[in-house]
Amino acid sequence: MKDDVLNVCANTYLQARTIFLESTKASGYDTTGYLNDEKVFTSDIDLYTDVSVGGNLQSKNLLFVLSGTHGVEGYIGSACQAWLAQNTCAFNGKFKIILIHAVNPFGFQFNRRVNENNIDINRNFEKGGIARSDELLNNMVHKGLRPNSYRKYNYLNLVYFLSRCYIRFGVRKTQSAIQQGQYKYADGAFYGGKYSTWSTKLIRTVLNIYKNQFDNCFFLDLHSGLGKYGAAEFYVAENVNSDMYKRAHNALGSVVTSPFNGNSSSCYVHGSLRSEATKILGSKNTIIGTLEVGTYGKLTVLQKILKENYIFQFGSLNDKDQISKELKNIFYPPDLDWRAKYIGHFNKLLFDYFESLK
Ligand SMILES: [Zn+2]
Repeated sequence: MKDDVLNVCANTYLQARTIFLESTKASGYDTTGYLNDEKVFTSDIDLYTDVSVGGNLQSKNLLFVLSGTHGVEGYIGSACQAWLAQNTCAFNGKFKIILIHAVNPFGFQFNRRVNENNIDINRNFEKGGIARSDELLNNMVHKGLRPNSYRKYNYLNLVYFLSRCYIRFGVRKTQSAIQQGQYKYADGAFYGGKYSTWSTKLIRTVLNIYKNQFDNCFFLDLHSGLGKYGAAEFYVAENVNSDMYKRAHNALGSVVTSPFNGNSSSCYVHGSLRSEATKILGSKNTIIGTLEVGTYGKLTVLQKILKENYIFQFGSLNDKDQISKELKNIFYPPDLDWRAKYIGHFNKLLFDYFESLK
């Protein structure tokens, strides 16, 4: 198992792309590369989102797997996609498989969660973005988390700041305001942007091709960093009484969570890729969700995201290099057991779904 894991795990975006392209090609997938030509950044290499289609092309059971919506989380997502490509025959022609590799290739290449304009793609699918939480709370939290002070990302200062928010607004509400993101401060963390990004438009175009073209559809956007170390949750942002939630729960069991059920590490996020997929593909005969596997805990992850955001914008080259490695380790732990666990969770979801269609 460990050798198999090593074979699909990369250390750079380019390496990940090569493993992905070789694995899909060897299994007969047809791949189209979309060049990110926004050109607001300088990069020696061309950055692509690749869309590979394979499996049984006649099948009306669609399986979508996406990686790198949060760029740096793309390492483990890419490993899963390569793994699936290499093991496509295990599904006996049951699925037509669409793999979208590196939704946010800039973030993947530069070890950021966000894109070249500091925009969080997973908050960008609602045009003009609306902050849903209490305005006072939202202002306090997101103004407070802006990268305008070197001291801010110090662990103790962050704890002190969050405690003040908790006392005033409550823990759940504060965490929800942070996760829902903001549309006001372009230099801030969790910024959803004021226009549709290159990635957002591309995803919409691809999803629209498959609209009404299936009998069943299983859609997974692969993320990491939320929840307990190595533990998985498949987050379906639907009410627990909805048909999709019940369908997901019947097929996949207790790994399925919902922000409406109180059993998820995440709050409801507007403008997410997952909610856009539900809008386009519909909720009839679909299961649309996010696979999350936890790493180092909420506060550690938040502190690292804020520190990275500050240093990326204001730090020295050396500091940037260092924080980029730290952020990568937070979302893609070097620990082989964690990586094997992630691929194991992913594999189980696919096989449980496969079994549920029999
Ligand atoms: Zn993520």
